Amino acid sequence: MDESDGVGPAEAAVTARAKALEDALSAGTPVDWPAEYRLLLERHGRLAARLNKVVTIADGYQATSRDLIERLERVNEQFHQLRDLGVPVCRYCGQVRVDAHYQARVEEFLKQHADLGLARGVCTHCLEERYGERVRPALPAAREPGPRPVAAPVADSVLNRVRATLADPANADAPLAAPLADLAERYEKLLRRLNKLVLISDRFQNQLQDSNLRLEHLASTDILTGLTSRQAMSHWLEAQVRRARGEHRPLALLSLDIDHFKEVNDTYGHEAGDAVLVTVAAAIQRDRRRGDQSGRWGGEEFVVVLPDCTFADALLIAEKLRATIAEQWVIVGERPIAVTASIGVASFTPDDTVDDLLRRADQAMYAAKHGGRNRVVG
Ligand code: GH3
Ligand code: MG
Ligand code: MG
Repeated sequence: MDESDGVGPAEAAVTARAKALEDALSAGTPVDWPAEYRLLLERHGRLAARLNKVVTIADGYQATSRDLIERLERVNEQFHQLRDLGVPVCRYCGQVRVDAHYQARVEEFLKQHADLGLARGVCTHCLEERYGERVRPALPAAREPGPRPVAAPVADSVLNRVRATLADPANADAPLAAPLADLAERYEKLLRRLNKLVLISDRFQNQLQDSNLRLEHLASTDILTGLTSRQAMSHWLEAQVRRARGEHRPLALLSLDIDHFKEVNDTYGHEAGDAVLVTVAAAIQRDRRRGDQSGRWGGEEFVVVLPDCTFADALLIAEKLRATIAEQWVIVGERPIAVTASIGVASFTPDDTVDDLLRRADQAMYAAKHGGRNRVVG
């Protein structure tokens, strides 16, 4: 925000006038008090108008910021509500754990979020005990408030000049000296208020940006794994395909599907399945090169987008990822569970749409399944 004391084109004229006045004073010419008074009065009017404008803008920021913070709180609240709504049949311990308030909670939640209608096959007891905090993606930390900004000292060329003139003992008895001093004081007060408002307005602007960032993060993150959500991933893939086409750069895509995942759920329980998903997601994240983007495409399927990566390199990367996953044991309770994944690799050709690329990667992934799973096919 502009914090200068300038009020537009009139500033140059005022500065010229100030110079002329200084010259006149040093030459001993008497001060034209009415002219001085008019000048300051005029600037006072302009400043008051500007102050009103800033107040209006600051009010606008304040309202939008409040609205965003409320939305953010609602989203957070939904996450907490979701944690309370595990379907009461626990696939881990095989027990139904319906407490007296469960039905009421589900009804209340569905009433509030008719658009969601989702449920998870884990009892809240097991979800809380075994899964804990991981079901919530980490929000980016709110920006530190930092040291409180201090209002800049009031600097204004006309005010300084008026003060200097008033301080000159030779002008002590001038007829307009007292009203001019009074006006100068009011003018300075207005300037201070304006400075303060500019600071407040800037602070709201920062808060607004911060809230937007946090909302954006929530919207583009998969709740369980913390990877990029399918929707955000689609946008990103679109952008990468455009770039690869426009800049004639290589681009590769991996489609990864966990093998026999249903068996994990059926044998060890749904939350064991969730732990496997989280572990595989972490392995994908760990193996990522700079600039790669990985996301959860659905259930136990993931995609990894590899910009500037040739088909041959993508095959190597996929093989490394397959091996990392296969070497890993997911410990659920005391039990180690072995996990493998099948990976399909496709590389971009200039005629490809996003769907073409995804389809070829999927076909390759299914070929890997048919070939015996735990393998890479390109
Ligand atoms: P394949 O090797 O052929 O891929 O067999 P699969 O068992 O992995 O594949 P299938 O498509 O038959 O089963 C996928 C299972 O994934 C079914 C579904 O219940 C489970 N699933 C989907 N989303 C989640 C989730 O968020 N958590 C858990 N625990 N399971 C999920
Ligand atoms: Mg699948
Ligand atoms: Mg599978």
